[in-house]
Amino acid sequence: MTIPMNALTIDVEEYFHVSAFDGIHTAKDWPGYESRVEQTTSRLLERFSDAGAKATFFVLGWVAERHPGLIRSIRAQGHEIASHGYGHQVLTTLTPSQFRADIRRAKGIMEDILGEPVLGYRAPSFTIMEETVWALRILVEEGYLYDSSIFPVWHDRYGLHGANPYCHRLMTAAGPIWEIPPSTLPVRNMRLPVAGGGYFRLWPYRLLRRWLKIIESTGHPLVVYLHPWEIDPGQPRLNASALSRWRHYLNLHKTEGRLIQLLQDFRFGSIRETLAPILQLTQDQVA
Ligand SMILES: [Zn+2]
Repeated sequence: MTIPMNALTIDVEEYFHVSAFDGIHTAKDWPGYESRVEQTTSRLLERFSDAGAKATFFVLGWVAERHPGLIRSIRAQGHEIASHGYGHQVLTTLTPSQFRADIRRAKGIMEDILGEPVLGYRAPSFTIMEETVWALRILVEEGYLYDSSIFPVWHDRYGLHGANPYCHRLMTAAGPIWEIPPSTLPVRNMRLPVAGGGYFRLWPYRLLRRWLKIIESTGHPLVVYLHPWEIDPGQPRLNASALSRWRHYLNLHKTEGRLIQLLQDFRFGSIRETLAPILQLTQDQVA
C-alpha cells in the first residue's frame, strides 16, 4: 500500500506580523523589532530535511525583500515558494485595488529572487471570507493558479462557514482558480479546525494525530499549516489583549517536538507535489 502524501504549508512571517497584534503597532514600527525569521525558518528546514519532508512556504513579501538568501535557500532545498502577500493587511481592510497592488508586489519580489513563477497565494489570517470573495478574481488576473485562504469554519476573525472543505476548482469572472483549504474535521454540522497554528498547539498530540488520521482516511490530502514563530518560545513578548496573547503564546515550547512526531506519523510534500494531478501541473511546474 502506498503511503498517502499530504500538503505541509508554512506561512513565513515574523512574530510581530501576526494580525492579532495589528492594534498595538503599525507597519512603520516593524523594522524596530528584533528579526527572528531566519533562525526559526532554518530550524524548520532542518526538521524537514531530517524527516525527508517537503513543504510549501507562503512567504510574506516584506520578509522576502529583507531576506532574499533565506528564500533562495528554502527553494534550493526542494521546497515550493508561494506568496503570503506583501504587507500582511487582512483583506477586510483593503480595497480591491490595494489588494491587487499588494499581491502583485509580493509576487514580483519573489519571482525576481527565484527567476521562476510563483503560483500560490495565502491571505493574511485566512481572510478570504464572504465579504472579500472578490479577491479570487484578482488572484486569477494577477497570475495565481491556486489559493489556500478559505477556512470553512466559524471564527471571530476569519472563516467561510459552509465552504467546500476539500481541494476544488472555483470559477471567477476572470477564469478558474484552485482552492486548497486547510484541513478540518467534520463534527455534526460543523467543521472543527485542527490542522495547524493555534489548534496544533492547543490539542494534545495523540488526539490531533487521531483526528488527522480520520481526515486522511477520507482520501483527501491533509493541508497542515504552521508559522516559524510557533517553534520559538524565546520570542519577545508583545502587549496585546489577553485573548490574543493566550492564542499566540500557548504551548510554543511544545510545537517543535509535536512537529517532529507529525513528520514521523504522516508523509508530507509541497502543494505542487501533493496536488499535481488535481492541479494538472506539468513536470516543470512540479519540480
Ligand atoms: Zn500570516
